[in-house]
Amino acid sequence: MKSVHLVAHGTPGRFEVHDLPDPQPATGEVVVQVFACGLNHLDLWLEEGALPLPIQLPRTPGCEIAGAILATGEGVKDWTKGDRVAIQSNIFCGQCEYCSRGEESLCLNSEMVGVQRDGGFAEQVVVPERALARLPDKVDFETAAALTLAGSTATHMLTSRAKVRPGDWVLVMGASSGVGSAAIQIASQLGAHVIATASSREKRELALKLGAEHVVNAIDESWPAEARKITAKHGVDLVVEHIGGKVLEQAFNCLARGGAIVTCGATAGREVMLNLWPFFVKEHRLIGSYGRNRVDLERTLEWAAAGKLRPVVDRIVPLAETPRAFAALRERTVLGKLVVRSNAG
Ligand SMILES: [Zn+2]
Repeated sequence: MKSVHLVAHGTPGRFEVHDLPDPQPATGEVVVQVFACGLNHLDLWLEEGALPLPIQLPRTPGCEIAGAILATGEGVKDWTKGDRVAIQSNIFCGQCEYCSRGEESLCLNSEMVGVQRDGGFAEQVVVPERALARLPDKVDFETAAALTLAGSTATHMLTSRAKVRPGDWVLVMGASSGVGSAAIQIASQLGAHVIATASSREKRELALKLGAEHVVNAIDESWPAEARKITAKHGVDLVVEHIGGKVLEQAFNCLARGGAIVTCGATAGREVMLNLWPFFVKEHRLIGSYGRNRVDLERTLEWAAAGKLRPVVDRIVPLAETPRAFAALRERTVLGKLVVRSNAG
């Protein structure tokens, strides 16, 4: 089987495509024939060596995987060859105190597929069976590969972590990103009034098409004031944040009393200044969100099957062009998701 290896970190990193023997499943594992795998900012951090984790190279990246089961290892009972599946990228142990109450995002023994073990930019991938989620018939592989990580991250933020309420003002950062484009759709579907930030005319139009009622220009420094104005000075009740740095600091300026910022990423910086006086006076909350629980992934796929959540796919590229897809994501010229197709499905 063909597999894309990251052999050296860098900007760009060095990739090689290798032909390897087909993998064999160990006890409790399955081999999945990969049909589609989405690209995420996490992949760029892996490429650059910018993750605060020890990484062994070579590594096959790719953490947003959809495909069909090719082989099952000993002890696998619930899955058979041909089953269509999505893979939960935060592989959880299923046994620790957090997993036992359905909080797999907090698993003490979690492992990221495509980061700490080989991922989906390959024709086949091996994962433990507990990482599998069944794909509804109506959800095709490309849709699953564009939502399994980014979409379920947004679901986790808006339901498990921050619990958006009907009528809330929700500000979604980065309308054209994977998390942003899903968050707009989910928040508006749950009855919130959505304001999105976007940095170009194309991205602003996309945000409105996805269900945002208002869009503010992310490049104009006065965007927090603009957002406040839209809410008639009430401020936004919830900010869906994944950019970090100055952007997160500024987001506090448009937050309503009692409002919350839920954050799952920090592409623009991991260290921020927080002024504690307005933070406690206005009873603000800053909520961390990491990965997803099984229930978030299942809900995301159900919404996709019902046509309530549609991924924005910029383009689908063949496996051999994976390094070029990394470059495109880094240049920030993409509108929505980049998806790599491994096998004709
Ligand atoms: Zn666990």
